[in-house]
Amino acid sequence: MSKDYVTKILIADRDRYLMGLLQTNLKEWGFEVVYASNESEARQILSQKHSPQLAVFDFTIATSMDAIDICRQISEKEHGVYKYIIVLVNEENQEDVLYSMDFGPDDYLIKPFNIHEFHFRLNTAQRIIRFQEDLIRERENLKKMSMHDSLTRLYNRAAIMDFYLRELSRCQRRNSFLSLFMVDIDYFKSINDSHGHLAGDAVLREAAHRISDSLRRYDAVGRYGGEEFLVIVPHCDQLQAKQLAERIRTRVSSKPFMIEKKEIFVTISIGVSACQGRNDSTPEKLIQLADQALYAAKNSGRNRVELSKAVLGA
Ligand code: GH3
Ligand code: MG
Ligand code: MG
Repeated sequence: MSKDYVTKILIADRDRYLMGLLQTNLKEWGFEVVYASNESEARQILSQKHSPQLAVFDFTIATSMDAIDICRQISEKEHGVYKYIIVLVNEENQEDVLYSMDFGPDDYLIKPFNIHEFHFRLNTAQRIIRFQEDLIRERENLKKMSMHDSLTRLYNRAAIMDFYLRELSRCQRRNSFLSLFMVDIDYFKSINDSHGHLAGDAVLREAAHRISDSLRRYDAVGRYGGEEFLVIVPHCDQLQAKQLAERIRTRVSSKPFMIEKKEIFVTISIGVSACQGRNDSTPEKLIQLADQALYAAKNSGRNRVELSKAVLGA
């Protein structure tokens, strides 16, 4: 086990002599030690945020039913993190601990135990905890990857649609506003044709960056298709939404993109739709209205923001 990996460990035992002995060893073995000398202290420590992932406690620190309850509390997930429990038992309560195995403990040691055996068990526990952490990290990475577009790092279509549906139902519940922007890069095909596909990719990345940089904390943007982005803007009426859309448009077009040491002038067109509170339209309807407004922006010469005529639910 590498020295730079520190596991926080809870030791709960009434035996002060044993605690003192363990303290010296545990520190030497590289653990960060937290102590509890009774059941309520143990519970209090375990209810804190970032409580120890590894707990060693004497089974007789509580009545056997409470000990089972403590095991349950320890093994309760804190953001999905597994807690490893080793209980210390006497010969006479070995049977109780076997019964409690179903409720949480991962391992047990019979007192008096050999310190080397204890160290060996802790190393195994650490290995399992570390393995679990790797799995959790991997799961988080996979989740992130499944929600994001690999080119622009924005939400992908499925993730931005999820966000949209959540915000739409919130807007209906709370009788608030919700706006939606359909953003499309103008003449993107000719950017690809003139500068090459890789430069086109770089333009998409920079456009994505400029759009997301213009948003507020509670807005979200995703890549909806090739060179189309969907922006979800909660709590904004149509006028405020138009101002935000104009800000995005200006942010993209005001300064040329520096791609492969060349200046590329990029503009976007934006179609804006909005809804307010309860409305009986389907989620597709708001997208359709933004699409129509985008179409109008393209037809009116591009590099512009167009609002949809209707505000749903108003
Ligand atoms: P308009 O102003 O009407 O929007 O015209 P446009 O050229 O932007 O639109 P059109 O739909 O004709 O072309 C979109 C182009 O975007 C075609 C497609 O090859 C390109 N494209 C789609 N995805 C990508 C991508 O990931 N990378 C690059 N480089 N190009 C892409
Ligand atoms: Mg386009
Ligand atoms: Mg398009």
